Amino acid sequence: MNKKRVIIVGGGLAGLYTAFQLEQLNIPYVLFEAKDVFGGRIHSEKPKGNNDESLFHDLGPTWIFPHHYRMKALAANLEQNLFHQHIAGAVVYHEHRNIAPKIIKNGQGPLLHRLEGGLYKLILALQAKLSKRNYQLSCQVDSLIKVNDTWQVTVKNTKDASVVIHETDNLMLALPPRLIHEYLTPAHWASEALTKALVAVPTWMANQTKFIATYNKPFWRDNGLAGQAFSRVGPMIEIHDASATDQQGFALFGFIGLSSQDIKSFSIEHLKAQCINQLKSLFGEAAQHYEQCYLKSWGNDVHVATDKDRAEPPAHPDFYIKRFSQELSSLNLYLAGSEFSEEDAGYLEGAINAADTAISLLKKEVLFKSH
Ligand SMILES: Cc1cc2nc3c(=O)[nH]c(=O)nc-3n(C[C@H](O)[C@H](O)[C@H](O)COP(=O)(O)OP(=O)(O)OC[C@H]3O[C@@H](n4cnc5c(N)ncnc54)[C@H](O)[C@@H]3O)c2cc1C
Repeated sequence: MNKKRVIIVGGGLAGLYTAFQLEQLNIPYVLFEAKDVFGGRIHSEKPKGNNDESLFHDLGPTWIFPHHYRMKALAANLEQNLFHQHIAGAVVYHEHRNIAPKIIKNGQGPLLHRLEGGLYKLILALQAKLSKRNYQLSCQVDSLIKVNDTWQVTVKNTKDASVVIHETDNLMLALPPRLIHEYLTPAHWASEALTKALVAVPTWMANQTKFIATYNKPFWRDNGLAGQAFSRVGPMIEIHDASATDQQGFALFGFIGLSSQDIKSFSIEHLKAQCINQLKSLFGEAAQHYEQCYLKSWGNDVHVATDKDRAEPPAHPDFYIKRFSQELSSLNLYLAGSEFSEEDAGYLEGAINAADTAISLLKKEVLFKSH
């Protein structure tokens, strides 16, 4: 068995960012990602009707918040531009199905940042920095066992179901706590307290469903509307301008206020048609002339949500990782997923922060051992 210096599990933002840093530090690693694409909760669709293949529409995260300086620095480092969320214009509020939607002037929220072309561009830029021999897609880690100082990592190829056991000294887990509990057999290596904490801490936004419709022009802006709406009627409860840049790849997105169980009971095409009808009622007839529409139920994605995420109301994750410092250090185990961050846990910024903390601990271990 070929022993690796570091194995990273998970190729979302935290895992890819970690891999990027390890490349720069010349620390050998291999990264396993269960899906056949990188990005995890950063997932975007290319606008099919649009010739510009560099514009993506985000079905996962949309915003970089003003205080998210690590994300801003990463975008700058990878030569990606930010732009301001479009909020100019009036906001629409729909209180009840028997009452017409109200137009509210100057009702906009805070000024948030977006990544030009969609957040998936950041994932592509990170992937491009990695050596191809250092990562494997469609490789789901199915069990972890610690034998003396060595981690045995069982990896299943999701395409042909073949299984390989890899060994490593240092294990970097870049995925949410509940997925670690679900897939990575903590009964073999974690204390009771750590196991309990892994199940208890929710995955941020894991049960959300997002809808996007793309348009060849921003008809709402032309009508003095921001593209922002709040609705108690549904199916979408909150809608925003989701254009891929300020002046291209025009789109609207909304969060659907239904549980993943409810979503399963509808046909996706029926739900999409309901969303388009809602956009018509809020922003006018032009909404029916969309180019493409997409719907992603994160609660039904087995590499994001667990039964607990589906059953519980959404809540912010708070892991208090420091209480497990000793245990993690004795295991040579590093927790890099966003939910483990001490700041902005669950957010994009949290993914970078948690990964930075994990990398600095790993660096100490690796440099100590090599001297
Ligand atoms: C709808 C939605 C909207 C959001 N909006 C925002 C926003 O506007 N701003 C913001 O800051 N944040 C937002 N977030 C949160 C943001 O997406 C996350 O904080 C961030 O993407 C987390 O990155 P991560 O790498 O820690 O985890 P993930 O992206 O979850 O990555 C984990 C990776 O591990 C992989 N994996 C899982 N199990 C295994 C296994 N057994 N073996 C191998 N690989 C495995 C997964 O496939 C995935 O690629 C949103 C999230 C969603 C879903």
